[in-house]
Amino acid sequence: MTDSRPHLKDLPIEALRARLAAEGVAPWRAEQVVSWLYARGVEDPMAMTDLPVALRERLAGAWRWRALEWDGRVCSADGTVKGRLRAADGARVEAVLIPEGERTTLCLSTQVGCPLACSFCATGALGFTRNLSTAEILDQVCRMREALAPGQRLTNVVFMGMGEPLLNLPRVVDAVRMLLHPKAFALGPRKVTVSTAGVVPRIGDLLRAVPVNLAVSLHAADDEVRDVLVPLNRRFPLDALLGALREAPEITPRRPVFFEYTLIEGVNDAPEAARRLAERIRGIPAKVNLIPLNPHPDTTHGPPSAEACSRFAGLLARRGVTVTLRRSRGADVDAACGQLAAREAVA
Ligand code: SAH
Repeated sequence: MTDSRPHLKDLPIEALRARLAAEGVAPWRAEQVVSWLYARGVEDPMAMTDLPVALRERLAGAWRWRALEWDGRVCSADGTVKGRLRAADGARVEAVLIPEGERTTLCLSTQVGCPLACSFCATGALGFTRNLSTAEILDQVCRMREALAPGQRLTNVVFMGMGEPLLNLPRVVDAVRMLLHPKAFALGPRKVTVSTAGVVPRIGDLLRAVPVNLAVSLHAADDEVRDVLVPLNRRFPLDALLGALREAPEITPRRPVFFEYTLIEGVNDAPEAARRLAERIRGIPAKVNLIPLNPHPDTTHGPPSAEACSRFAGLLARRGVTVTLRRSRGADVDAACGQLAAREAVA
């Protein structure tokens, strides 16, 4: 029989407080539960030893405590770990752990598949199955930290895996609040980044709800090219997208927007494209991250040469744009940007 009990990890802390209060339990017990679950990684309520036994038993009976189980993991030569996780309905979810010196970044998925169909993205080629629940988003963190090396700590979280976060906004916001909550994962607000392909009407909602970094997948600075790469651009063209960013009071030099620009040979890598990009984003507090395209079987596109990528970065820098050229991580295990397609089984 399938378990139809609700998942405790779907509850915001305020909702858990209210439930407990309604049962005559002190609401601050909610913080204790959250601290066991997320700060200490204990998912068995019977092991939450500072809770009254009767409460432990009620919690154990009423709720499900795990939303994702391990389904496989692959480790890259560069230390990147791709985790394949399985939801109760069999849906596969991928997350990636990326160590970089002192930093360890976790890349999370927000949907099974994605409806946006960006032309160069492996997830886009899969189509859309469903949104992930808050519990399934948070369980990616709970499972993936089991893959950390001794002494290694999770320092950053990016919502750049499968799916479009702003099309699953309430669940993403609840998950972010738990990532930031001092009794839960206790990450600093600047350590969490939510990336969008440009769902313009939801950008303000996100920025008002949680103090995270915003990343916007730009990839082109003229509508003709962007219409093809990111079909969502036909609904929310560059003027609307850049206008919304220009007017967002939350975006400031201290909290700039991160523009992602995947460099694709012969498509968006011309010197003229760099000049246009610098021109169009002028006045928006921003950093540009250039990422050479990661090739995969669902795209005929490829990355420009290393020299062409550097030249593009140089043209931006010369025009006063703060720019970094990223190297791709985990490409040998299909864990790089846009490669999280979760198709065949992994070891
Ligand atoms: N839907 C959100 C978040 C997921 S994609 C968004 O679009 O921002 C995370 C980033 O990876 C996006 O910038 C996306 O355009 C980029 N990406 C997708 N496929 C890629 C590929 N094959 N190579 C490099 N970057 C890719």
